[in-house]
Amino acid sequence: MIMDVKAIRDDFPILGRTVYGKPLVYLDNAATTQKPRCVVEAISEAYYSVNANVHRGVHFLSQQATQLHESSRETTRKFINARSTNEIVFTRGTTESINLVASVFAQSQLHQGDEVIVSVMEHHSNIVPWQLQAQHYGFVLKVIPMNDQGELRLDEYQRLFTPRTRLVAVVHVSNVLGTINPIQTIISIAHAHQVPVLVDGAQSVPHLPIDVQALDADFYAFSAHKMYGPTGVGVLYGKEKWLDVLPPYQGGGEMISHVSFKHTTFNELPFKFEAGTPDYIGTHALACAIDYLLHIGMDNIAASEHALAEYATQQLTDIEGLRIFGTSPQKGAVLSFQVGGIHHFDLGTLLDHMGIAVRTGHHCAEPLMRRLGIEGTVRASFAFYNTFSEVDALTDAIRRIVRMF
Ligand code: PLP
Repeated sequence: MIMDVKAIRDDFPILGRTVYGKPLVYLDNAATTQKPRCVVEAISEAYYSVNANVHRGVHFLSQQATQLHESSRETTRKFINARSTNEIVFTRGTTESINLVASVFAQSQLHQGDEVIVSVMEHHSNIVPWQLQAQHYGFVLKVIPMNDQGELRLDEYQRLFTPRTRLVAVVHVSNVLGTINPIQTIISIAHAHQVPVLVDGAQSVPHLPIDVQALDADFYAFSAHKMYGPTGVGVLYGKEKWLDVLPPYQGGGEMISHVSFKHTTFNELPFKFEAGTPDYIGTHALACAIDYLLHIGMDNIAASEHALAEYATQQLTDIEGLRIFGTSPQKGAVLSFQVGGIHHFDLGTLLDHMGIAVRTGHHCAEPLMRRLGIEGTVRASFAFYNTFSEVDALTDAIRRIVRMF
């Protein structure tokens, strides 16, 4: 299928606006994506017509809201090919999904001297939750290094395993380098040591077809707002065999079966991990975003973003003094770069004044910046609604800025 980008862009009203009198060129999709009309409208329609608290009501509206919320769980299950809706826990985002696993896994499985493996290219969201638990339970973090292209060193990874290794937590697609890690291989190596794997899927789920069963991931975390859905909603996929044995994360309504002052029993999966009123309007909007993605087709999305990224890489490489960080052939549509001696913040600010929204800084990956020996980069990250002429606008603007300097 050839994508009709013009028709797609019409679904995203914000893409038609101007900033500083210039047409907006939105290249900050790794931070958050824009929302199609159907997602925004689904939110107001749900509030207008089916708003009632879920799971608890006998009344019609509550049952309808519950049905909508639970059918969103089924839509999410199908989207990542989980075995059961028991394995789909709704959270507030990738960060909360990882904190959930770090907290309950550490509490029940980790002891003084145990080891958790992460990688040098992790987002802070997949470092700090482990550090917080490590301080309390006394386990240690070991770090998979990478080569200069921004690829994880699988030989070194294999050498990190010891009899004390308890979990691997690794990102699928790097939000800085764009590297698509060989996650299936990473998982099968860990499983050969009987070690489970948590995958940070924040930058993969919006861009690639994901099949958690084919990957054999034990946990897979992602955020709705990075996949054209609403803010404040996320997903934790967890294999039932793990979610069954792990203790609850937070206490409150919905996650219990019976409560007394002497003894409380917990609800079945997935509700055991969902304390309090869930964002049932948000989960409905997430399901609408998934339907929208499926309508375009994840393979089409991956192919069109790949073409954009290839073109952008080619165009940027031609600019004198421009250096791209992350040059693996296995790359998503994320380009981090520096240009000559121009500070990334200055470059980002000048681009902004030309209507081009990019991100600057360490991208919540300070250990990676340290590995690269830099303080920050400019990052352009693409979505399927971006165009080749927007890539040209970016490269023309950088050339103008270089001339100014
Ligand atoms: N992991 C990666 C790779 C990310 O890029 C991000 C956000 O940029 C996160 C985790 C955190 O996502 P959220 O802020 O939606 O929880």
